[in-house]
Amino acid sequence: MDADRDQLKRELVDQIRERLRYYASITTVGLPRGVSTLTQEAVPALREGAETLEVIRADLGDCTRCKLHKNRQTLVYGVGNPNADLMFVGEGPGYQEDMQGIPFVGPAGQLLTKIIEAIKLTRDDVYIANVVKCRPPSNRDPEPEEIDTCRPFLERQVASIRPRVICTLGRVATQAMLSTDKALGRMRGQQFSFGEAVLVPTYHPAYLLRDPSKKRDTWEDMKLIRALLDERR
Ligand code: URA
Repeated sequence: MDADRDQLKRELVDQIRERLRYYASITTVGLPRGVSTLTQEAVPALREGAETLEVIRADLGDCTRCKLHKNRQTLVYGVGNPNADLMFVGEGPGYQEDMQGIPFVGPAGQLLTKIIEAIKLTRDDVYIANVVKCRPPSNRDPEPEEIDTCRPFLERQVASIRPRVICTLGRVATQAMLSTDKALGRMRGQQFSFGEAVLVPTYHPAYLLRDPSKKRDTWEDMKLIRALLDERR
């Protein structure tokens, strides 16, 4: 009992320490004009002199901070250009990703690759990460506690990369990034502020595989992203 309590205490202290380190390292910046301020308070800002992706990965280590570690094969950190202008955020690794340790490599990932190429970019140009780094059992939605435990690492990845545009893939990623429970249908088609980046929600590619009629909306979102990248060069 005492050992369990001590372990829990150590994990809590670690989580608080990580959170404090993140808050200590951020500074407030202005919001891009014409975008929603939904996250103005939830995500204060990105910062100068951010730590490298390698440092953040090392800090994650062989993570056991939440129960998702129990069933994972591989922790799926993120992949791509550490200076990307465009970052994609999905919800969490699936089977293939858990096996290979790389985000979006299964069927949904192959569609994401095509979506990226449709706006004249490659996977090497962008950065791809997930809200949670370990596969939820049977691909269930990650639980709020799991999202909150992993959140500081995603925020630090964003702060390190400093993308100009973040595209959230699906409801879970969009709600987690914007700290809201609004339906995806009410958020897609809009732009939000996430620190110094503009966040554009779109459908998850796995959903597009189930309902290809939604590809038309996704194409509109991608055109918006292309325009934002071109406009803010
Ligand atoms: N779905 C996600 O949300 N992320 C992945 O990495 C793969 C599938």
